[in-house]
Amino acid sequence: MARVLIVGAGLTGGLCAALLRRELPQRLLHIVVWEKARGAGGRMSTSRSAHDPKCTADLGAQYITREPEYAKKHQSFYEDLLSHGVLKPLTATIEGMTIKEGVENFVTPQGISSIVKHYLNESGADIFYEHHVTQICLKAGKWEVCSPTGVVDQFDVVVLTIPVPQILQLQGDITNIINRSQRQQLESVSYSSRYALGLFYEAGIQIDVPWAAQYISSNPCIRFISIDNKKRNIESPDIGPSVVVHTTVSFGTKHLESNIEKIQQLILEKLKEIIPIVPEPTSIKCQRWRYSQVTKAFLGCPGQITLHTKPFLVCGGDGFIHSNFDGCIDSAMSIVEALKFNL
Ligand SMILES: Cc1cc2nc3c(=O)[nH]c(=O)nc-3n(C[C@H](O)[C@H](O)[C@H](O)COP(=O)(O)OP(=O)(O)OC[C@H]3O[C@@H](n4cnc5c(N)ncnc54)[C@H](O)[C@@H]3O)c2cc1C
Repeated sequence: MARVLIVGAGLTGGLCAALLRRELPQRLLHIVVWEKARGAGGRMSTSRSAHDPKCTADLGAQYITREPEYAKKHQSFYEDLLSHGVLKPLTATIEGMTIKEGVENFVTPQGISSIVKHYLNESGADIFYEHHVTQICLKAGKWEVCSPTGVVDQFDVVVLTIPVPQILQLQGDITNIINRSQRQQLESVSYSSRYALGLFYEAGIQIDVPWAAQYISSNPCIRFISIDNKKRNIESPDIGPSVVVHTTVSFGTKHLESNIEKIQQLILEKLKEIIPIVPEPTSIKCQRWRYSQVTKAFLGCPGQITLHTKPFLVCGGDGFIHSNFDGCIDSAMSIVEALKFNL
C-alpha cells in the first residue's frame, strides 16, 4: 500500500484527497493530510465567535463564482455540492457587484470551509492539524517529512498544496531537488495581500443596512463589507450575526508588517466612518492574508509541477493556475493525473 502525504488542508488539498480516493481504493492507497492550522479550509476558512460557535464568518473566500466556460467542464463538482446542500444560489443583494452575463454565484449556508470539509470527509484521509511541514528529505527511496514539534514520518508520495512562497521556505533535500529554472519560475509567482476583520455579535442584535454585502470603490482602506448570515441567507433569531470587512490590496500591502492590533483598530475606525450605526461586537478576529489571491501564476498555468519522480513529489494549488474554486479543481485534477502514472 502506498502512503501519500498531502500538505495543506485547503481546497486544493481537500480536492486532491477526494479525487485520489475516487481513483484508488483504501487497500491500495493510504492518504494522510498534514495541516499547520487548527482546522481545515486555508483561504476558504470559516471563523467562529469566541463566545458562540454558531456565530461564524467567512474571512477569506466569499462566494463561488461559476463562469460559463466552467459550467460544463466542472458540472459534476457543482451538482455534487448543490445536491448535498453545501452550495446554494446567491440570492441576497450585493451592492456594487459586477454582473456578467452567464456568470452565477453560489454561497455556502454552513460557511465556505464546508466545501473543503466535504471533500476531506469523502476522502476518508487521516488528517493531522497543527502539523507544520518544515523539512522534506530523501531517505531510502521515501520522503521523510518533519515538523518543528518533532513529528517525523515517511511517505511514498508527497503532494504540496501550499502557497508557492511557502514551498520555497521548506528545508531539507527539497532545496536541491528544485532546479534553477523551476526556482526562477516559482520565485516569479506573486500574490496580493489584504486584511480581513470578523465582528461577531450575540443573537438578537440587528445590523440595520439595506444590503447583505457591499463593494466599496473609493475608500483607501475598505473594499468589501458583508453581513455574513444575510449573504448566506441563513438569518435566524437564534444565531448571532457577524460582519466581515476586507481591506483594499493597497492597504494590505502598505501595512503588511504592521502590528495586527493597530491594524484592527484602524479598520474598525474606517468601518465606523462608513457605517456609523455598527454595534459593538462581542468578539473580533483580524486576519492577515499575506498570500491572498494570485496576481501572477506559474508560467503557462500548468496546474501542477512535478519536482521529483522516484519517489514522487508534486506541487499545485492556485499559484499554478488562478485563485478560485475552478482553478483549484483544475489544479487538483492535474496533480491526480500526474500522480496516477507514478504510483
Ligand atoms: C480574502 C480572500 C478572498 C477570496 N475570495 C474568493 C472568492 O470569493 N471566491 C473564490 O473562489 N476564491 C476566493 N479567494 C481565493 C481562494 O480562497 C483560493 O484560491 C483557494 O482557497 C486556494 O486554495 P489552496 O488549497 O490552493 O490554498 P490554501 O487555501 O492557501 O491552502 C493551503 C493550506 O496549507 C496550509 N499550509 C501552508 N504551509 C504549510 C506547511 N508548511 N505545512 C502544513 N500546512 C501548511 C495552510 O494553512 C492552508 O490551510 C479568496 C481568497 C482570499 C484570501
